[in-house]
Amino acid sequence: MEPLLEVRNLTVRFPTDDGLLTAVDDLSFELFPGETLGIVGESGSGKSVTSMAILGLLPKYARIQGSIRFRGEELVGRVDQEMRNLRGRHIAMIFQDALASLNPVHRVGAQITEAIAVHAPELSDTAVRTRGLELLNLVGIPNPVDRYDQYPHEYSGGMRQRAMIAMSIANEPEVLIADEPTTALDVTIQAQVMEVIARIQQRTNSSMMLITHDLGVVAGAADRILVMYAGRQVETGLVDEVFYRPAHPYTRGLLASLPRLDRRREGQRLERIAGQPPSLLHLPAGCAFTPRCRYADASGMCGNRRPELHEVSATHSSSCHFADSLDSRADAS
Ligand code: SF4
Repeated sequence: MEPLLEVRNLTVRFPTDDGLLTAVDDLSFELFPGETLGIVGESGSGKSVTSMAILGLLPKYARIQGSIRFRGEELVGRVDQEMRNLRGRHIAMIFQDALASLNPVHRVGAQITEAIAVHAPELSDTAVRTRGLELLNLVGIPNPVDRYDQYPHEYSGGMRQRAMIAMSIANEPEVLIADEPTTALDVTIQAQVMEVIARIQQRTNSSMMLITHDLGVVAGAADRILVMYAGRQVETGLVDEVFYRPAHPYTRGLLASLPRLDRRREGQRLERIAGQPPSLLHLPAGCAFTPRCRYADASGMCGNRRPELHEVSATHSSSCHFADSLDSRADAS
């Protein structure tokens, strides 16, 4: 199957007063039709910069190398007008902060239908409004006729996020990029919003990049996972492979830090990954996870030699030098 979106050796750097900051470092992945790819990592791992690069929303001073292809067409280097034609219609984004992303002085219905009017100017005002009401109904907003003319402050947090989803799917894009779509919501609303996204994805058969720091969210929604650390891809595989046979110490640390009802013991604390991510201004020559890694090699191999992504199985890859022997190293330590 041909990928819908293909990212090859993407590197994004930003010039700063202290030197070049490498936000994304040699990242490669594909997104296939109808697939959901979960991109996981902590703040500063390069997840959101990657999505901004795909959408052509990075500032002009960003230095981008590598290739981003959508349906085989190169996106890197395209002019603003070309990217505007693509955004919303073919690739759309659900932003994480609905309150900040919705304009407080415009009615929600008008904001949702703006993208329809831009990409389909031949539609009448009545047809655009009808489509807006359909979208509100589709994302589960009660009383869409009344809600259409309300302002964002009259919506609850969960409803605002649903309105954001309605806005992003207005033109039934082939690729949806959901950047922490449930971060600001409580767990009940979070589940409802994820359910809405899954329903819409099924209906429109769109592919999705689900960007999150929450492994619980990807476990229920993604087909494959890509784990990022310090701008680099450290592990990728099918959801079950990564959850049940993690092949990178960082992924193991993330999974161990999750609360689990089946492992709860009185007084037991959650595990944590000690230390902090490295400065993106001065990335180490070897593995960026070395200072925090309890599997690191004492001979200095980890600190000096950059590990390349290599296959653990046909569908599972890791960029740890010791991906194949982590269990025995854990027993020995
Ligand atoms: Fe840890 Fe070394 Fe593997 Fe990096 S390469 S994750 S430091 S064991």
